Amino acid sequence: MLGEWLNALQKGWRQIFERSRPIPDALWRQTLAHYPFLARRTDEDISRLRVLAGQFLAQKQFSGAHGLVVTDAMAVAMAAQACLPVLHLDLKLYNDFKGIVVHPGAMLARRSVVDTAGVHHFYNEELVGEAMEGGPVTLSWQDAAGSSADAARGYNLVIHEFVHKIDMQDGAANGCPPLPSRQAKAAWQTRMQTAYEAFREQVVMAERFGGSPPWLDAYAATSPAEFFAVTSEAYFVSPEQFEADFATLKPLFDAFFGPKNALKVTFNQ
Ligand SMILES: [Zn+2]
Repeated sequence: MLGEWLNALQKGWRQIFERSRPIPDALWRQTLAHYPFLARRTDEDISRLRVLAGQFLAQKQFSGAHGLVVTDAMAVAMAAQACLPVLHLDLKLYNDFKGIVVHPGAMLARRSVVDTAGVHHFYNEELVGEAMEGGPVTLSWQDAAGSSADAARGYNLVIHEFVHKIDMQDGAANGCPPLPSRQAKAAWQTRMQTAYEAFREQVVMAERFGGSPPWLDAYAATSPAEFFAVTSEAYFVSPEQFEADFATLKPLFDAFFGPKNALKVTFNQ
């Protein structure tokens, strides 16, 4: 089940809506009021975000799992957060999927591993979100809804999963988004790797030797792909603290996500 406006939007009137029906004023105001990290952006950014989020809603298919009703307000909130990373890039970065599955809360995913003896082991992993390469994005509404309170910790589930989607545009997520040349990729990876290793060191020192833990979630230390996704969350929702902790990444992220498109990202889809 869906909210009234979204239901109409997704019932086949996409083209008409995309051209002529922006997100209604009240819904948009409600979204900005609920998510201060959106409202604090420039007027120009906010107008652009509203248009992009409207296009996003027309193109994507939301569905609620376990009886969850995705209301108009929920869909607009998730769309606005999902569009923040591509605000100055292109919605085409999200062209490889259509579905967004929303669960009421954390979900259990069935996983399997094969050990060195070739034996399969099955286990359940608790997830709050997942982005599948070429497939849907899954989100826990409980976590997506709480993102304004979590902004001080640099946490944002929706941005996290959609940055994985951007990362996956040129193959499996590896912490490097699609960039126009090998040199640009090498420069990106060198700078990210240095920051990633410094962050890992801080996490290890805190966990093993009682050093002060980093501000950002230690989950960022699990892989270069997670480091890119988690630092991007912080870049968008807690920019001052992000800059204080990751001074070398600030100009890099500005060049990629920012209005100048300084990394000359091109879109071939
Ligand atoms: Zn992740």
